Amino acid sequence: MKKYNFSAGPSILPQQTIEETAKAILDFNGSTLSLMEVSHRGKDFQAVMDETIDLFKELLNVPEGYSVVFLGGGASLQFCMVPFNLFEKKAAYLNTGTWANKAMKEAKFFGEVVEVASSKADNYTYIPKDFVIPADADYFHITSNNTIFGTELHTDLDSPVPMVADMSSDIFSRPVDVSKYGIIYGGAQKNLAPAGLAFAVVKNDILGKVSRAIPTMLDYRTFIESGSMFNTPPVVPVYAAMQTLRWLKANGGVEAMYKVNQEKAGILYHEIDRNPFFKGTAAVEDRSLMNVCFVMNDEHKDLEADFLKFATDRGMSSLKGHRSVGGFRASIYNAMPIEGVQALIAAMQDFEKQAGK
Ligand SMILES: *Cc1c(COP(=O)(O)O)cnc(C)c1O
Repeated sequence: MKKYNFSAGPSILPQQTIEETAKAILDFNGSTLSLMEVSHRGKDFQAVMDETIDLFKELLNVPEGYSVVFLGGGASLQFCMVPFNLFEKKAAYLNTGTWANKAMKEAKFFGEVVEVASSKADNYTYIPKDFVIPADADYFHITSNNTIFGTELHTDLDSPVPMVADMSSDIFSRPVDVSKYGIIYGGAQKNLAPAGLAFAVVKNDILGKVSRAIPTMLDYRTFIESGSMFNTPPVVPVYAAMQTLRWLKANGGVEAMYKVNQEKAGILYHEIDRNPFFKGTAAVEDRSLMNVCFVMNDEHKDLEADFLKFATDRGMSSLKGHRSVGGFRASIYNAMPIEGVQALIAAMQDFEKQAGK
C-alpha cells in the first residue's frame, strides 16, 4: 500500500532526494567510494557545497549583501547563536508558540527580552497583529510558521530593526522578500534535507556590532568566511539538500511550489470546514499552508482514536496531532504530492459516511 508521510519533522522529502542520496552513499560520483567516507575538502564535495549554496540563493532570491551558511545544532542552536551575534542591550520577540518560547528563553541569557505580543492565552490559535516593535531593540524575532499550532505569517512584516525569522517549517514554501530580514534560519529537516543540518541567510552588515567576544563556532562570520567549511560539515544532509533544491528548481521554483501549496492546503481546509466530523484549530486568516491542524468536532470527540486508526490503516502516516493541540496534524510540505492530500480527504469523507450511519 502507498504510504503518505504527514510527519511534522523529520518529514517527507522528494523521492529524487532520497534516491539520489542513496546512490551517492553507495557510489559518490562514480568514485566507487561512499559519500559518507570521502573528504569534505575534496573537489567533488566542494562542488556539492558550492552548488547547494548557489541554488539556495537563486531559489530564495537572496539579494547582494547576504550570505547563506550551513551549520550544525539545528534551529535550536540558532536560538542562542542569534543573540550571541546581535544582542547588545535588548531584543524584541513575537510569541506565537512553543518554538518562539524556546527562542526567547535563550535570548534571556543575554539581557532584556521584550515580548511585543503573545497569543498564549488562546493556546496560540492565531498570530497577534497589533503590536509595536521597539525602535531601540537590537533585533526583532519571529517564527514565520508555527509547526505545532498550525499558524503562519503570510506576509513579510516591516520592522524598524533587523528582523530575524525562524523559517524551519516554511522555508521554500512561498516567495520571501529576503531584503526585509536580517537573518532567516531554520533546521533543514522539514522542507529540505534529513536532520543534522541547519541553514542561515545572514545580512552581512548586521554582524560585528556587538561588544562581546563570540566563540568561533557561534560566530556567523566563521561560516561565512569559510564557505561553511570551517569544520567538517554534515556531508550527507548537504548532499540531500542539493538534491531537494535541484528538484525544486526543476519543478518551477518557489513561485510554482507556492501555487501548489495553496491548492493543497486549500482543498484540505475546505474539507475540514465542510465535514461535520472535523474542525480546524487555527484562526482562518492565519492557517498554515504547511501544518494543517484539526480536531474532531465536539459532538464526535470520542471518535478521535477511531479516525486516526481509520486513516492510518489507509496509509496516512504520522497524522496524530501534537500533544499541545491534540487531534490531527497533516504536515503537507513541498514534497507532499497533491495525491497524498486527496487520499486524506477521501479518508475523511469515507469516515463521515461510515460513522454517519
Ligand atoms: C522543528 C522546529 C524547530 C526545531 O528544530 P531543530 O532543528 O530540531 O532544533 C525550531 N523551530 C521551528 C519553527 C520548528 O518547526
